[in-house]
Amino acid sequence: MAKSNSDCLFCKILAGDIPADIIYESDTAIAFRDINPQAPTHVLIIPRKHISTINEITADDQAIVGSLYSAAQDIAAEEGFADEGYRVVMNCNEAAGQTVFHIHLHLLGGRAFSWPPG
Ligand code: AMP
Ligand code: ZN
Repeated sequence: MAKSNSDCLFCKILAGDIPADIIYESDTAIAFRDINPQAPTHVLIIPRKHISTINEITADDQAIVGSLYSAAQDIAAEEGFADEGYRVVMNCNEAAGQTVFHIHLHLLGGRAFSWPPG
C-alpha cells in the first residue's frame, strides 16, 4: 500500500496542494470541514497514511485507525456537542456511498440524527 497516492483528493489536501478548512492535526491524522455539510458540523477525519477502504486496513494500522476516534472525541468536545451526542460514519465502497477512496470518518453534530440511516 502506497503511503500516498498522487491521484487521491485527500492525499492532495494532506500535501497542501488543495485547500481545505483544516481544524485538527496530529501525528497520524488531520480533520477538515466537509465541502458539502450534512449537519451544522460535518468534519472529515482522515489518516495521514493513504488507506483506500476499510477492507485495506491491516493490523499494523490499528493505532492509526484508533487515532481517528480520538480526533472525533476531541473535535466533538471542541464543537460543544460531546454530551448531547453526535454521529461518526465510515462508508466502505460503492453500496455504502464511498466516493473518495482514502478512508475518512465523517463526524456529524449539531442536530438530531435518525436511525436506521438511509
Ligand atoms: P464519502 O462519500 O463517504 O466517500 O465522503 C466523501 C466526502 O468528501 C463527501 O461528504 C464530500 O462532500 C467530501 N468532499 C469531497 N471533496 C471535498 C473537498 N475538496 N473538501 C472537503 N470535503 C470534500
Ligand atoms: Zn490518499
